[in-house]
Amino acid sequence: MGIPVDTIVVGSHVWVGDPELVWVDGQVVNINGEDAEILTSNGNLIVAKVSKIYPKDAETFADGGDDMTKLSYLHEPGVLHNLATRFEMNEIYTYTGNILIAINPFQSLPQLYDAFTMELYKGIPLGKLSPHVFAIADAAYREMMKEGKSNSVLVSGESGAGKTETTKMLMRYLAFLGGHSAAEGRTVEQQVLESNPVLEAFGNAKTSRNNNSSRFGKFVEIQFDKLGRISGAAVRTYLLERSRVCQISDPERNYHCFYLLCAAPPQERERYKLGNPRSFHYLNQSNCYELEGVSDAHDYLTTRRAMDIVGISEKEQDSVFRVVAAILHLGNIDFSKGEDNDSAAVEDELSLFHLQMAAELLMCDPHVLENALCKRAMITPEEIIERSLDSHGARVSRDGLAKTLYSRLFDWLVDKINVSIGPDPSSNCLIGVLDIYGFESFKNNSFEQFCINFTNEKLQQHFNQHVFKMEQEKYTREEIDWSYIDFIDNQDVLDLIEKKPGGIIALLDEACMFPKSTHETFSQKLYQIFKDHKRFVKPKLARSDFSILHYAGEVQYKSDLFLDKNKDYVVPEHQDLLSSSKCSFVAGLFPPLSEEAGKNSKFSSIGSRFKLQLQQLMEILNSTEPHYIRCVKPNNLLSPGIFDNTSVMQQLRSGGVLEAVRVKCSGYPTYRSFLQFLTRFGILAPEVLKGHCDEKVACEKILDKMGLTGYQIGKTKVFLRAGQMAELDAWRTEI
Ligand code: ATP
Ligand code: MG
Repeated sequence: MGIPVDTIVVGSHVWVGDPELVWVDGQVVNINGEDAEILTSNGNLIVAKVSKIYPKDAETFADGGDDMTKLSYLHEPGVLHNLATRFEMNEIYTYTGNILIAINPFQSLPQLYDAFTMELYKGIPLGKLSPHVFAIADAAYREMMKEGKSNSVLVSGESGAGKTETTKMLMRYLAFLGGHSAAEGRTVEQQVLESNPVLEAFGNAKTSRNNNSSRFGKFVEIQFDKLGRISGAAVRTYLLERSRVCQISDPERNYHCFYLLCAAPPQERERYKLGNPRSFHYLNQSNCYELEGVSDAHDYLTTRRAMDIVGISEKEQDSVFRVVAAILHLGNIDFSKGEDNDSAAVEDELSLFHLQMAAELLMCDPHVLENALCKRAMITPEEIIERSLDSHGARVSRDGLAKTLYSRLFDWLVDKINVSIGPDPSSNCLIGVLDIYGFESFKNNSFEQFCINFTNEKLQQHFNQHVFKMEQEKYTREEIDWSYIDFIDNQDVLDLIEKKPGGIIALLDEACMFPKSTHETFSQKLYQIFKDHKRFVKPKLARSDFSILHYAGEVQYKSDLFLDKNKDYVVPEHQDLLSSSKCSFVAGLFPPLSEEAGKNSKFSSIGSRFKLQLQQLMEILNSTEPHYIRCVKPNNLLSPGIFDNTSVMQQLRSGGVLEAVRVKCSGYPTYRSFLQFLTRFGILAPEVLKGHCDEKVACEKILDKMGLTGYQIGKTKVFLRAGQMAELDAWRTEI
């Protein structure tokens, strides 16, 4: 990590790599050329290369520094150990410069977020108080007020790391700063805050990694007027996971709203013909129905109230829940072989009952619904032929309809929230808060992971450039030399994915438009085109899988569902069925395609649309002053008090925290103004202070006297290399 390792001798306290703990501390007992023999604190005698071990600073570690860049020894094991030590003391927040690292405590820490604490952080510069999410929000707000410039807070981390909770805290603090105290009734900030439970009810679900996992990305823009009061807001969402609506596996759940509605008061359940969630195919594929510590009945009422506040009328709420109920009934329509073998028929009386229920709730004709599920029109130049789907095809058609309905419903909610809170056209400043999925690498990775990791590459580039730029600016201001050539740029991965023409997304669109393509022909094309690309790998033995070397590691993607998942297409039969619904709400979700649009309709793909959305997001982010919060999940058991080194290290790496540390280390991580420096270290050379030389010269003389090299003197500050501050401090304490 660019640390000058010139101080390792027999007797040194050091960190050495360990397969289980990642890093273990120990003491050097012998040095033999390049090899050092180390007695570790867990009692092992091991040999390691001197260049692979790091000095350990016994003193700083005693209390755990709240800013890692102030650690006297800034390196990977130091960072990890500092976080672990602080976590043990329930200090979940730590800075790395102005990046906040937040470790999920997996337990409620009410005092950390109460009204008193909010008051405490108000208007206090970053770093004066203990690290806190409020301090970041406060910094963003003050910067916006002072500079008249928009700010953003980018919250990232893996599933369950605490992004959404952190985002809510940020929003609560901004509402506290920019609230309309005297206003009556619904205030904008209340609406902004209440949009969270609404979006969570429809966009969150229990997964194996998080009981309340957001299955969509979200960017909330909070707008402010000239007086710094919240005056409007806008919510943008990204890529809702559609497959969950009809497919779940144990121990996960479907979207919360389905269970909430099944737990509604009896008369409402009656209205939607709902009962036990165990009776619905879309819910009973998993054995999990209830969440520990959560009452669906209670949350149903909370969601209803939140919907009131964000401005969704009674009538609209009824329509929303009718669609939710209709989806459950749709899922219970099963099919068997029809009269001739190739056709599907609604299986039995029970399926027929659910078909009728679904039709009633959607206010459409049950026969038209049945046909839309089981039949397709084939348009040939001569005529239109009606073709029957087989029972498998009918189930796919049913699930497609359910997914489309649900994703349109979700988009409607987001639009409604936006219309109801309303943008403030006169506002020119905003604070954007981004809560978006972190880097993912599973055993099976598909199109979703591809899009998610693409997002993270984009954000990583933004982050790198920012951290790099900030460092660069600091040095330029002080007119000192700094060339950090080792800067990792991921433009090549981004090109591989999004370049037009020729990137993976463009090739995927091409494959989707060409009727004869299969995932195999698509993969073959990738293999051929990218065979020499540094970031692309054809895994050994793979027939259609491909790997990308992401900034956070290699991920192998299974391409078999890429084509299907990329197609953004509503079957005309489904479109016709729903756009002619007697319920204006349902019909409104499926506006008729205009003749013009129908004819000229360009192929629309999820991948390209997502790419465009990301591009727009990056444009907004680039026009703001960014702040970063990296959420870290301390263990996979979701339990308090457990700190898993390996997993935390991996997350720090994926979140770019280590890269930021590396950038800082390669430069001059510690700096002090001349006066601060003299006040602290004048004692090392009292004779210098007695003379009448200027501050700058005095600093130089002290540094010379102590024999330090490699430091730089700027216009107003002394810049020290990693570890030099600690050296000076050590001399100071010796005096
Ligand atoms: P996903 O990507 O799956 O949406 P996430 O990063 O948004 O995950 P959260 O839902 O914010 O994760 O957090 C997961 C759980 O961790 C929360 O439901 C809560 O129980 C706990 N948690 C997170 N942050 C905190 C906190 N600051 N204090 C107490 N508990 C927390
Ligand atoms: Mg979340």
